[in-house]
Parts: sequence; C-alpha cells; structure tokens
Amino acid sequence: MSSVPKYICPRCGAVGNRPATICPGSSLVQILFFFLGLVPGIIYTMWRVAATYQGCGRCGSNILIHTKSPMGQRLLLEWYDYEADDSD
Ligand SMILES: [Zn+2]
Repeated sequence: MSSVPKYICPRCGAVGNRPATICPGSSLVQILFFFLGLVPGIIYTMWRVAATYQGCGRCGSNILIHTKSPMGQRLLLEWYDYEADDSD
C-alpha cells in the first residue's frame, strides 16, 4: 500500500503527507501596519513569523496524528473506514 497518507487531522479528518505551514494574521493587516510605520510593521511581521506553525491545511488545527500510530489507525478507521497496513 503506497497511497496511505502520512498524517490525519483528528478535528476534521483531513489527510495528507505533510503538514501545511500555517501563518496566522493576514497580509492585509501586515501592509496596514507598515503604513503606520516601519516599527509596527516589523513587530507584526516578527509575530507572524514566530507564530507560524505546522498544522492541518483544512481546519488549521495544530494537531496532526501520524497514521502509523495506534491513534492514527483508529482515526483512519473512524473517518474513512479504512485500515492502513504496513505491507508495501
Ligand atoms: Zn483539520
């Protein structure tokens, strides 16, 4: 089985092979802060970069479960009625 996804999101059931990089805040606000001045713009940019995390690309949850783990296997069954096995 080569099509088994690597991660599953326990919140929305989205699966994928790599977590999405989620950057909080918005680019529009970032531009507005730069209009206010360089310092607020830089501070907001630094906050966005520092708060960036790896998570679910669909719902934004920062918890992704590896499908090879027992919890991941259970979630796969729960969401997709599908049992992942190791036989490649
Ligand atoms: Zn999700």
